[in-house]
Amino acid sequence: MVNMICIVCPIGCHLQVDVKNNYAVTGNACPRGEVYGKEELVSPKRVVTSTIKIIGGIYNRVPVKTNIAIPKEKVFECMKLLNDIEIKSPVKMGHIVLKNILGTDADIVITRDM
Ligand code: SF4
Repeated sequence: MVNMICIVCPIGCHLQVDVKNNYAVTGNACPRGEVYGKEELVSPKRVVTSTIKIIGGIYNRVPVKTNIAIPKEKVFECMKLLNDIEIKSPVKMGHIVLKNILGTDADIVITRDM
C-alpha cells in the first residue's frame, strides 16, 4: 500500500494505493483522485509552468505552460528547451509557441497577453 496526497485540487485528499490489487485507490473524494493515484505510480505526469524571453514586451519574460501534463521524466528537458525560445511582442494569451513538445502531444501556450 502506498500513501500519497492528491495534488489535483486544493483539498489534498490522503490516498492509499494498493499496488498489489491493480493500483486500487481509496481515500479519494472524487474520481480524479483515483486517476491521479494510479497514474502517479504507473506513469507520473506534470503540467510545466515557466516563462520564455519576449522582445518588446513590458517585461523581459512572458509566462507559458503546457496545455496538458507531460511525463515527469521529460520536465527538465522541456525547461531547457523553453530557456532557448524567444518570442516577439505582441502576443495573446492562448497563443501556441511550440506544438507537440518532445513528442508528448502537449503544446506550449502563452498564459497572458503581452
Ligand atoms: S481526490 Fe478529488 S477532491 Fe480529493 S484532492 Fe483529489 S481531486 Fe481534490
